[in-house]
Amino acid sequence: MLLINCPHCGARDEAEFSCGGEAHIARPLADNAISDQQFADYLFWRHNPKGVFLERWRHGAGCRKWFNAVRDTVTDEIIEIYDMGTMPKSKLGKQAYAENWRRASAAEKAAQPAKAKGKK
Ligand SMILES: [Zn+2]
Repeated sequence: MLLINCPHCGARDEAEFSCGGEAHIARPLADNAISDQQFADYLFWRHNPKGVFLERWRHGAGCRKWFNAVRDTVTDEIIEIYDMGTMPKSKLGKQAYAENWRRASAAEKAAQPAKAKGKK
């Protein structure tokens, strides 16, 4: 049984939480055209490493808020918990973020705003 340290409520039993899967999946913007295959990669493919993984969790039986966690999938150790919309601060978390195949995907690049066109 895991003891998860909710950033809003403190340490609680794992049963109060649900895992929301991979964190930091950027949605491609409508202005940036990508192929159907690239969009399917964004929509269906998920990173599933043996080791350090960045994932979203929700404290459903408590504050009902979402947060991110850096967890080692081998040892189940939670290395870091951080707020939604922020980046991991731990060395392992930063490394896991950078090494994720998604960082080089077309969908991730299409999630960045296109440069302003026709403006001086
Ligand atoms: Zn909570």
